[in-house]
Amino acid sequence: MVTQQTPVDDYFRSHLPNQYEQGGRKWLYPRATSGWYTRWRTAVAIVLLLALLAGPFVWVDGHPLFLFNILERRFIFFGVTFWPQDFYLVAIGLITFIVFVTLFTVVYGRVFCGWACPQTIFMEMVFRRIESWIEGDFKARQRLDAGPWTAEKMLKKTAKHALFFLISFVIGNTFLAYIIGRDQWLTLITDRPSQHWAGLTAMLAFTGVFYAVFAYLREIVCTTICPYGRLQSVLLDKHSLVVAYDYVRGEPRGKKQREQITQDTGSGGGRLEPPVVAAHASAPRPLPQTPKGDCVDCKLCVQVCPTGIDIRNGTQMECINCTACMDACDEVMHRIDRPQGLIRMDSLTGIETREPFRSTTRIKAYSGVLLALLAVLGGLLGTRPALDTTVLRAPGQLFQREANGRVANLYSVEVINKTYQPMPVRFRLSHPAARLRFVQPLAAVRPGELTKTMFFITLPETAIRQSNTPLTIDILSGNTLIDQVETNFLGPEH
Ligand code: SF4
Ligand code: SF4
Repeated sequence: MVTQQTPVDDYFRSHLPNQYEQGGRKWLYPRATSGWYTRWRTAVAIVLLLALLAGPFVWVDGHPLFLFNILERRFIFFGVTFWPQDFYLVAIGLITFIVFVTLFTVVYGRVFCGWACPQTIFMEMVFRRIESWIEGDFKARQRLDAGPWTAEKMLKKTAKHALFFLISFVIGNTFLAYIIGRDQWLTLITDRPSQHWAGLTAMLAFTGVFYAVFAYLREIVCTTICPYGRLQSVLLDKHSLVVAYDYVRGEPRGKKQREQITQDTGSGGGRLEPPVVAAHASAPRPLPQTPKGDCVDCKLCVQVCPTGIDIRNGTQMECINCTACMDACDEVMHRIDRPQGLIRMDSLTGIETREPFRSTTRIKAYSGVLLALLAVLGGLLGTRPALDTTVLRAPGQLFQREANGRVANLYSVEVINKTYQPMPVRFRLSHPAARLRFVQPLAAVRPGELTKTMFFITLPETAIRQSNTPLTIDILSGNTLIDQVETNFLGPEH
């Protein structure tokens, strides 16, 4: 993990922000923020929440856009169905995703956590806002929790937890609909409960887990449980863009006298500038020499932090890059008429040297690997056969001699139609003397379904030269060759 040298003690290194020194959970009461980043974050959260909640119910051309049916081992991702036979694609896709996350984290730190992770979005944009709406701002919430159990407190707590449970129920049901699909979920909620004990138990279990996460666990998920947060210490370096405090400009911190503010700025008035996303991105500019740094030690950045840390201590594993402290500090800088961006998205190198962000060898290497993986994945997806066929010799069977002088082998066949149209299917054998005879005829496979049947392959005994004859079976749809399967034909020794 990147740390920076500031004139503060390192108490924060040995103590969790949400734990008392003598042990026990220290409940956090983050102050609400407003500002440029909060507005954008809210807009992004609304879009993502709508997408997340609508996901399982959006169907295109008669099939869902997303399905993660672990029970039936059927997965649909952006309308493309993946079967267990596509495991290699899922594995390569996962590796590609991990490299993408690694590259993204190396460049932008943990910004996904603060802006796009469902845990943060639900916690900060839904549950925390409901809490503020019912119990009041951060100070009122603190007072309410510390105070005795009055009728007002009981009413507020009951209303809050009832709403929390209701929203957790909605999230739990959405989660379930992603797993079992829209239609099965509809059956589950409209049929008699006695016919769906397993489904209803799962529904209540998911609701309970989400309720526990958002009502009690909260920031512990991000700071302690989520493995992605732990990975930061190995992924970030001093070139990564993270939410960072400009200690060069901010220190020594302390209250500034009005005369000093006037002297620094040449005015006493306020002026609203757009937030500085990366102040070092433009040419280095000298800052006025001040006896004190720009940080007035108001601790607003600490009060708004949902994980309870002080970003002025440097980059910490608990920081989810939510940018709330950037808004809070920008507001303070605006009020004291100092340039915004004392806390901003920047790298340690950027803060120390005021140099713009540059791509490093590490970033280029990850980018190269990612591009290569994307090319492989794209190629495999593009050439994935529409029909996936498995032909196996029937277990426990060798061969049978038929009355017409032919030898027969029995095979089981499974055909998966990975498309959304019915596919006519026929089989062609490589051996010119081989014949194919179905036990149950198979002419077409229905869309998105797996069809099983059995067939005999027969060869004239006179055409058999060895006990184990290799055979190739072509699988055609119309006249198009879709797939090829290699198998063996067992016959008598000659
Ligand atoms: S909000 Fe800005 S000025 Fe206030 S303590 Fe934090 S860094 Fe310093
Ligand atoms: S330090 Fe700032 S960006 Fe990091 S979690 Fe706290 S408020 Fe969010």
